[in-house]
Amino acid sequence: MLTDAWFWGSIVFEGVDDVDVAAVMAAFGTVEVVARGRLSGAECPDCGRFSERVHDHYHRRLKDLPLAEYGFVIRLVVRHFISGAAACPRRTFAEQFSRLAVP
Ligand SMILES: [Zn+2]
Repeated sequence: MLTDAWFWGSIVFEGVDDVDVAAVMAAFGTVEVVARGRLSGAECPDCGRFSERVHDHYHRRLKDLPLAEYGFVIRLVVRHFISGAAACPRRTFAEQFSRLAVP
């Protein structure tokens, strides 16, 4: 159960419908949950165009808290998409997660 993605997704992301648990790793007393956006792309905040062209991504450490006797970390994969619209002043943008504290 410690590395069951469904189990962690159900307790950590209850009520959050835009992320999926990609992987769960447990080692040395710490559980690490890797989460990523559920959708294949995102809308550019400037022009509103939906893009699935991934430019890059980075990992963001969201939470680091003890859970029972385990350490607990959420690593969120944040993708950067290419806007792609010729008239758009923004070339790339990061996907947003409405229910998670990711500015
Ligand atoms: Zn754009």
